[in-house]
Amino acid sequence: MKKYILPITLLLIFETIAVTLWLALDNIFYLFNFSYIGISIALGVFLFIKGYSYARRITQLLVGLYMLIYLGVISNENMQLEGFWYYLFTGVFEAATIHFVVAKIFGPLIFGRGWCGYACWTAMVLDFLPFKRVVTHERKNIGWIRYVMFIASLIFVLSLFLFKVDRIEKIMLWSFIIGNILYYTAGIILAFLFKDNRAFCKYICPITVFLKPMSYFALFRIKCDKSKCISCGRCKKVCPMDVDVTDNSRSRKNGTECILCFECVKNCPKNAI
Ligand code: SF4
Ligand code: SF4
Ligand code: SF4
Repeated sequence: MKKYILPITLLLIFETIAVTLWLALDNIFYLFNFSYIGISIALGVFLFIKGYSYARRITQLLVGLYMLIYLGVISNENMQLEGFWYYLFTGVFEAATIHFVVAKIFGPLIFGRGWCGYACWTAMVLDFLPFKRVVTHERKNIGWIRYVMFIASLIFVLSLFLFKVDRIEKIMLWSFIIGNILYYTAGIILAFLFKDNRAFCKYICPITVFLKPMSYFALFRIKCDKSKCISCGRCKKVCPMDVDVTDNSRSRKNGTECILCFECVKNCPKNAI
């Protein structure tokens, strides 16, 4: 029973969010939305514990497709960074604002970059590419691009308001569609260029401007039991985000990049992680 504490805890956290938002905002959508996400995540963790190899990918598809197709395309909610700015400036604390607050700003204080491993619809596609394990752990010096992307999206939405552009809602829908096409294209090109499925996450994604500092303080963290570790280095080799798993400090190399994929856990020959 002890081993099922994590999926049960995750389910309870999401159910608490679901019920709180449902009652606070008097909108039953939030009960459905966060219950669905919580069940999908808990199911993935449960299947992982049961030893099912594709557990994480199942959750990623369940949540990613729901957000991209149902919320994004069918319900016209721009859940990208632009959507967050848009709802923030209109003063609407719903949809994208709540999504960002829960998944990308305050949620990472609890579950770190879990969003990136289990829910992101961009990574959901990139993880199908052939470069699951990075060839070189040397980082390119282009991480600054994420800040340029972050500021560009802010300026884009701000200008729509400053210049009183008509039909901003329509522009938001198109920016969601075009933005996603550009993200997928850039992500696929970078993956092949650097032979790394997650190159987009490491250098381009503007969401990491929120995710990285918040996940530094994450409650759920991958830790190494030094008494069992034989320093074989396998965990670092399989980590798609180049995290130095054997260092337990918060300032470990690429520590804010861990996506909780559990590849290091699965591959450690001494069950030290
Ligand atoms: S870094 Fe960005 S693109 Fe990558 S998984 Fe996280 S949110 Fe998605
Ligand atoms: S894979 Fe396990 S034993 Fe090997 S270095 Fe990592 S933690 Fe230590
Ligand atoms: S392999 Fe381990 S350290 Fe690396 S991202 Fe996955 S869970 Fe985190």
